[in-house]
Amino acid sequence: MGPRLCEICNETQSKYKCPACLVPYCSVVCFKKHKEIPCAKPVPSEEKSTTDPESHLERPLNVEEPGNVLQKLQLEAIASASEIRDALKDENLLKIIRNIDGSPDAENELDKAMEVEVFRIFTDKVLPSVAT
Ligand SMILES: [Zn+2]
Ligand SMILES: [Zn+2]
Repeated sequence: MGPRLCEICNETQSKYKCPACLVPYCSVVCFKKHKEIPCAKPVPSEEKSTTDPESHLERPLNVEEPGNVLQKLQLEAIASASEIRDALKDENLLKIIRNIDGSPDAENELDKAMEVEVFRIFTDKVLPSVAT
């Protein structure tokens, strides 16, 4: 492959390359002419993957109130602990727990629930195994 022609004048052998777009040019005159139009790095022919691994940086977990999350976790643990299933057959207790779980003010509901004996007994039984 011989030397390329200057792509600006297409007459003279190119000696240089535009540092930006790598277009070959022969002289400062041609380079100046080339620079009259903005140039950019040549786009690689193969399509660049649009999924940039860097763009998928870990996002911080969407944590709400830490207290609520803790209670939610506790309630989930309560609901999933098999030894507690029996206790959950108590409809009154189930209602209280659902109430807490569905409440936007879970903390307040929990406080209220603590005044109900069946719930307090239940949490006494459960929470020691749930609390970390
Ligand atoms: Zn030229
Ligand atoms: Zn250029």
